[in-house]
Amino acid sequence: MTSPTHTFSFELFPPKSVEGLDKLATQIERLKAVGPEYVSVTYGAGGSTRERTFQTVALLRAQGIDTAPHLSCVGSSRAELCEILHRYREEGIHRIVALRGDLPSGMGAGGAGDLRYANELVTLIRAETGGHFHIEVAAYPEFHPQAPSAERDLQSFKRKVEAGADGAITQYFYNADAYFAFLESCARLGVDVPVVPGVMPITNFSQLARFSDACGAEIPRWVRKRLEGYGDDIEAIRAFGHEVVLRMCRRLLEGGAPGIHFYTMNQADPSLRLWKELGLPGAERIAPPG
Ligand code: FAD
Repeated sequence: MTSPTHTFSFELFPPKSVEGLDKLATQIERLKAVGPEYVSVTYGAGGSTRERTFQTVALLRAQGIDTAPHLSCVGSSRAELCEILHRYREEGIHRIVALRGDLPSGMGAGGAGDLRYANELVTLIRAETGGHFHIEVAAYPEFHPQAPSAERDLQSFKRKVEAGADGAITQYFYNADAYFAFLESCARLGVDVPVVPGVMPITNFSQLARFSDACGAEIPRWVRKRLEGYGDDIEAIRAFGHEVVLRMCRRLLEGGAPGIHFYTMNQADPSLRLWKELGLPGAERIAPPG
């Protein structure tokens, strides 16, 4: 089901406190055991997590883990973005996830920054740093919530690839058919970069429902109904959620997905459990949950 060309990676977000960073170090130890291709670190739009993203990137790098910082352009000036790019290049970072980001509601157009869309950020990265970075961009098999149409969103995705993206990571989804249909549309448009599915383990229904409403990811009705029915029974939610996501990951890999990017939400074990049962490389090194 997998080959050395597959890419298996994790995503973390920067913790808010020093204690949070200490806790994250323990999770990183666990993730490191399987030898992910890279670990990515999110970046708050407008630079809201700037220093904390740097700290988290440094923590990963100190562990010898290939790290891909996210960089979102909305709310930032060209000069700020270039400063960060040069900093990462000097630190020897080779991967970056280039995004537009979302400004908090209420922040008017005045806070929008110099660049409007992620394709402009990809263009800036290539203009400033040439081929130094391996650039990933976001892809939306169920389409971006602000896109006026599916076709326009596909064209936006194509623009990012034409600007120089090497690959893409998708928004999470629970419907493998949406992913395969997206790949078919990409092929039709002549977009042939690897599109790695982003997979979100299911561990908490109310949080997942909130995120999904915001980012336009659909929780299939039968999954939502079952999760709702478990109420506060966290164990039942996790057991059912694990089976749903595991089955989808198997379908994705059997159908030709070039890897999996796990949205860990800073919790190693739900992603590692999937990793283990999928038999991904390094699964034998996973220690039992602490
Ligand atoms: P874009 O590709 O710019 O698209 C945004 C919208 O504009 C789409 O509707 C698109 O169709 C449209 N569009 C694009 N280009 C044009 C154009 N030239 N003309 C007209 N319309 C256009 N957010 C963060 O703040 N920090 C993160 O670290 C982060 N990490 C993420 C990682 C992944 C893998 C994913 C999938 C999302 C992540 N996000 C993150 C969320 C992301 O910032 C939001 O989904 C945001 O709303 C869109 O970002 P984008 O890069 O996809 O934008």
